[in-house]
Amino acid sequence: MSMPTIAIVGRPNVGKSTIFNRIAGDRISIVEDTPGVTRDRIYAHGEWLGTTFSLIDTGGIDMGDEPFLKQITQQAEIAIDEADVIVFVVSVREGITDADEKVAQILYRANKPVVLAVNKADNPELRQEIYDFYSLGFGDPYPISGAHGLGLGDLLDAVIKAFPDKTGEPDDQSIRFSLIGRPNVGKSSLVNALLGENRVIVSEIAGTTRDAIDTKFVADGTDFTMVDTAGIRKRGKVYENTERYSVMRAMKAIDNSDVVLFVLNAEEGIREQDKRVAGYAHEAGRGIIIVVNKWDTLKKNNQTLHDFEVHVREEFQYLAYAPIVFVSAKTHQRLSELPKLIKTVATNHAKRVQSSTLNDVLMDAIAMNPTPNDNGRRLRVYFATQVAIQPPTFVLFVNDPELMHFSYERYLENQIREHFDFTGTPIHIIERHRK
Ligand code: GDP
Ligand code: GDP
Repeated sequence: MSMPTIAIVGRPNVGKSTIFNRIAGDRISIVEDTPGVTRDRIYAHGEWLGTTFSLIDTGGIDMGDEPFLKQITQQAEIAIDEADVIVFVVSVREGITDADEKVAQILYRANKPVVLAVNKADNPELRQEIYDFYSLGFGDPYPISGAHGLGLGDLLDAVIKAFPDKTGEPDDQSIRFSLIGRPNVGKSSLVNALLGENRVIVSEIAGTTRDAIDTKFVADGTDFTMVDTAGIRKRGKVYENTERYSVMRAMKAIDNSDVVLFVLNAEEGIREQDKRVAGYAHEAGRGIIIVVNKWDTLKKNNQTLHDFEVHVREEFQYLAYAPIVFVSAKTHQRLSELPKLIKTVATNHAKRVQSSTLNDVLMDAIAMNPTPNDNGRRLRVYFATQVAIQPPTFVLFVNDPELMHFSYERYLENQIREHFDFTGTPIHIIERHRK
């Protein structure tokens, strides 16, 4: 389940965020409320003629007080690091500027396809003026108007044609997981410790220009792929310390995983940023395990673990389905339990239950605790069926979806969870009207 990534680059004001918002589907919108940032999101999913992809607006990665040229240089480098295809945006109204040349120079060095979009070509006269842009050296310029939604189809056709061909890749049956968490919780220590404990098969699947992205290993006879090990281990580039960059990176890793290890730091406790990270993972519908790392740092008595668990449950109520493990990357305490747990969660995330058993469970649940009614109209549930896995998704056919209450839906979810093991995975319940 790996998704191609498009990165949009270009100097400020050429229209990157306008184009991003045009292309981004609005199903997944994750808002990060950093003050002073006008863009509400920099990472989204899009779809064009049946191909889905992720999309990054590099212009939204705030570089703080860096000088202007340094900022656009870093944004272009991020595009090169992250993207399968880069959309380089310039503006027909201003022509080629020094800053455009600067971005072009960085992109020449990239071993990645670049598609040149000439924005603000709002009318036929302006569309005639794109020929100058051949001189940038990225082949045919695509005239578009982000503001009016013109030319985006041709642009996306070109982008999709440039996606790397994945058909030659061997079928990957391994369980894909990633580690996410704010800086310093111990992700890269955990990566090293896990790889140290297990047999690494192919240490890296190299991208064209970057270091190892995914690492494969075998544990307890099962194949695992650790997603984005490079992103976790690599250090040093300035932009890697910006929160928006780490968030984007985490969201990308989540997209490419079956199971997410959400890492907390026992030493420092739970912080605001942890909650945002957990929110992305939950919304993405992946399997989740809460890993409390640095367990060695606490002075413990026989209440410590219980108290910490209660605290985590309170702070992350919507992750009630996620198991919690207390580990130490330093002493390797309980690390050997992780592979088995990841496997269980991956299995549950992909679990299908039979309609007949499901309906028995739900009808018993309804008999025990009758459906809500609203002004004398009672909710009726006729039939339920599982329509999807990863995450398991159930459709309930009902007389009127409006009659379902949040609390009753949760009751039904709990009943489903009591009868089938869905540990570690969210489950989705959808009501559909049926006469
Ligand atoms: P960014 O800094 O590259 O992300 O640029 P923005 O998307 O914020 O756009 C900069 C300005 O250009 C805004 O005032 C937009 O309304 C305007 N703009 C964006 N796309 C177009 C376009 O296709 N035509 C015209 N005329 N203006 C545009
Ligand atoms: P990341 O930013 O999440 O990748 O965190 P790192 O793996 O770089 O770890 C941050 C710091 O915490 C480093 O100094 C590690 O040595 C330390 N650290 C990581 N895991 C543990 C642990 O389990 N116990 C202790 N005591 N320190 C740890």
